[in-house]
Amino acid sequence: MERYDVAVIGTGPAGISAAITLNNRNKKTILFGRKHLSEKIERGHTIRNYPGLPDISGPNLMKAFRNHLDVMGIGITEERVQMVYDMGGYFSILGESADSMYEASSVIIATGVVTGGTLPGEEEFLGKGVSSCATCDAALFKGKDVIVLGYSSDAASECAFLAETSGNVTYFPLNGRDDPLPDSVKIVKEKPSGIAKGDRMSVETGEGAYEADGVFVLRDAVPPGRLVPGLETEGAHIRTDRSMCTNIKGIFACGDITGTPYQYIKGAGEGNVAALSAAAYLDSNHY
Ligand SMILES: Cc1cc2nc3c(=O)[nH]c(=O)nc-3n(C[C@H](O)[C@H](O)[C@H](O)COP(=O)(O)OP(=O)(O)OC[C@H]3O[C@@H](n4cnc5c(N)ncnc54)[C@H](O)[C@@H]3O)c2cc1C
Repeated sequence: MERYDVAVIGTGPAGISAAITLNNRNKKTILFGRKHLSEKIERGHTIRNYPGLPDISGPNLMKAFRNHLDVMGIGITEERVQMVYDMGGYFSILGESADSMYEASSVIIATGVVTGGTLPGEEEFLGKGVSSCATCDAALFKGKDVIVLGYSSDAASECAFLAETSGNVTYFPLNGRDDPLPDSVKIVKEKPSGIAKGDRMSVETGEGAYEADGVFVLRDAVPPGRLVPGLETEGAHIRTDRSMCTNIKGIFACGDITGTPYQYIKGAGEGNVAALSAAAYLDSNHY
């Protein structure tokens, strides 16, 4: 299997900045994320704190980032990474299906932060009735009833995909969007407070409980402790030092995922530092 020097996970300002610096340092890099880069860039209204761009909109900043990647010939691999395994000397990276595996000598996590934390029961029942990935697990719920908690920007399209094969589909639009869905999907505009398991799975809200065979919790970012087993975290954040090194040798983190303040320029700056640290790690040959 082809082995990359660095796998960068996330296409917000942090991951983009890391990928640009790695490109300058001639490191063979794979950048995982979305062609639309980041929901948090796209939704920015008027940004007044990015040096050199005194009055830029989120969509225009996104275009400028996209253009920078294009000019440097940096491609984006559209995969939501599910898990990173430390293989001792290199890392195995699992995409959205069992056969989408990648290898890299080091990894930079730039996934942004899961705001609001996870729901009670979400971690406990993950893999036991709760799934975080429609593409990965749709087949497990063929013909069965599912609930979809749509936090991610592309949750409605993932839900429409599930509606093709699942039984009854109940969708909670939690991403602030009003995207079109197939008529067969039942929409519930309530805020989930937790997930429970009895004979079936249930999602509780302040107003009642909804039952199904499976619950899909679709988020833009996977909580870091779930993404990399053994990674030291502090609440929703990954613990790093000033060089953006984590507790796992060869894994670096940058951007919102390392803590506040949540700012574009902080993400871009940390992305640069993480990339330089990864380059130094690779050049030291101590892996
Ligand atoms: C409405 C709004 C307005 C804002 N305005 C400002 C402002 O004016 N000035 C300012 O400085 N900051 C502002 N911010 C904050 C800023 O958006 C964030 O601090 C910044 O985007 C963080 O960058 P990041 O690269 O760490 O993460 P993000 O921008 O969140 O990007 C993370 C990327 O990683 C991807 N990803 C996550 N998990 C995975 C995975 N497992 N596999 C593959 N990809 C993954 C996500 O899809 C996303 O594309 C604003 C935020 C919002 C929501």
